[in-house]
Amino acid sequence: MTTAALIVAAGRGTRAGGPVPKQWQPLAGRRVIDWTLDAFLAAPGIDRIVVVLHADDLMQLVPHAKVEVTTGGSTRAASVRNGLEFLAASPPACVLIHDVARCCARPEFISTIVQHVRDGKTPGLAPALPVTDALWTGENDRVTGMRDRVGLYRAQTPQAFHFDSILTAHRAHQGDAPDDVAIARAAGLDVSIIDGDEDNLKITHPSDFARAERIIGDRMDIRVGSGFDVHRFGPGDHCMLCGVAVPHDRGLAGHSDADVGMHALTDAIYGALAQGDIGRHFPPSDPQWKGAQSHIFLRHAVGLAREQGFKINNLDITLVCEQPKITPHATAMQSALAAITGVASDRISVKATTSERLGFTGRQEGIAAQATVTLVKTCA
Ligand code: MG
Repeated sequence: MTTAALIVAAGRGTRAGGPVPKQWQPLAGRRVIDWTLDAFLAAPGIDRIVVVLHADDLMQLVPHAKVEVTTGGSTRAASVRNGLEFLAASPPACVLIHDVARCCARPEFISTIVQHVRDGKTPGLAPALPVTDALWTGENDRVTGMRDRVGLYRAQTPQAFHFDSILTAHRAHQGDAPDDVAIARAAGLDVSIIDGDEDNLKITHPSDFARAERIIGDRMDIRVGSGFDVHRFGPGDHCMLCGVAVPHDRGLAGHSDADVGMHALTDAIYGALAQGDIGRHFPPSDPQWKGAQSHIFLRHAVGLAREQGFKINNLDITLVCEQPKITPHATAMQSALAAITGVASDRISVKATTSERLGFTGRQEGIAAQATVTLVKTCA
């Protein structure tokens, strides 16, 4: 049973302020629409995602294999209708219709709605929260009356429907509507209420950006890891440093290719994940790692970070030695590390220092390296 998500993002709403419509405005370092899409991409049970955009905005979205795009109409209802007609070419069993401005919807929340609509006791289902505040009417800053709040709900999205039912309802509907439950009910469809989420706010006014940013910020898992390594000089004519063979009158001795910088970096990533160190994953006692190229270790650590949902935000390495000189090779090292880790070169720092001829690095007995990484993940 396939379930599609239809994200309505064609609005030109101006109540939120700002020079561009709210879905394209920045929020916690990304755009509102990116947070919304990520939640649906991460939600188990969503097979397809269709975003309804204004014709002027089609180039704004970064292409993604699971995200299709169609254009909206002059009203919200017309935009949803266009999205449903787009889906109708290859109709899903169920569809979740969501306002792009609800960018704090959690993947788990979305999945719960998918489960309920698939179980399908009613053709429609929508999240809502009971009204708990007293309700007044007012005029010119004066209270003019009271309203009974009993039985009143604040409606949210995603609103979920059996696809054929909501398509038929939309085709029969004239004019705009506040949401798709209104259109479903106008067609006589039963709609159940499921518990909404207080954090699933709709960005409407300028102050909502700050609240959404707080909600998303609370879900960030930010990790710092550090790594340190030393290798002694031995016979050879080059040193492997951060993936680059640097000519030198000696090499570095070690079980693997002795790339001290890459080892420190790999340990920093393991450290941020609380996953021990290189020795734990690639025991030196195991002959298969003798002479191994260090990118194998680094790729493994990067893979573990990805598996756990982390993005590597930046890498910073310091090599400590008198010789060879590192600076002429730093750019090549950044590129080599970028190719292995998938991190952009401008987020990778390779720098060097001497130890003022003090200690083992000062006596040119070996090279030391230390590395720091930050990993970032958005938790549901
Ligand atoms: Mg080492």
